[in-house]
Amino acid sequence: MCLLCCLFQVANAQTNKSDTTQARLYYEQAQKLMIAGKYIQAEVLFVKIFKMDVLLPDEICYYYGKTLFEVKKYAQSKSFIEKYIRLKGEEGEYYLQSLQLELDIEKATNPQAPKHCEKVQRDTCHQCRGSGLAFQSCTRCEGHGKIICDLCKGNKVNIESTSFGERYFTCSRCQGMGVVECPVCEGTRQEKRKCANCRGKGMAYYRRACK
Ligand SMILES: [Zn+2]
Ligand SMILES: [Zn+2]
Ligand SMILES: [Zn+2]
Repeated sequence: MCLLCCLFQVANAQTNKSDTTQARLYYEQAQKLMIAGKYIQAEVLFVKIFKMDVLLPDEICYYYGKTLFEVKKYAQSKSFIEKYIRLKGEEGEYYLQSLQLELDIEKATNPQAPKHCEKVQRDTCHQCRGSGLAFQSCTRCEGHGKIICDLCKGNKVNIESTSFGERYFTCSRCQGMGVVECPVCEGTRQEKRKCANCRGKGMAYYRRACK
């Protein structure tokens, strides 16, 4: 590497470092402004941060989305909240708040949305009653509880060739029944799955009328 390139890289790294410090300062200030309800000023700082070439925490999507909501830029707000949910999922610290914001955006933008106050709440999943499991008719045996014996193919007997000709034996696997217990549902005819509503967590999020 040439000396000049090397120097440039060092200079560049230094700029980035001070940018990071500056961005962090702006970020802290923006959060303080949000707490004080000064969202217009907070938005200005977020825009400055996004113009800097620095690594940003995922949470900034939530904070910026919340700020945009408060300054009534609903479409932009929605896209940042969706981005936050995509990045952090249900484990995200602001997941519940993000769902609430989505609901509030809907109320502010969709004239058909219910007018009364609603809050998003985490509660026991209605579909699985908290078990996280869903039962459906077994797909392997199509709900019969038994499948065709794979040794005798349902013929109940197996053929063995001997020097005296062919001999028939009662199938040892299915004891001559031609069918065996379904290995998936173990004869219960029902297949256990993760509840689709709560993705197996037993808890889900619901919109409820405010009390
Ligand atoms: Zn058999
Ligand atoms: Zn089955
Ligand atoms: Zn569930």
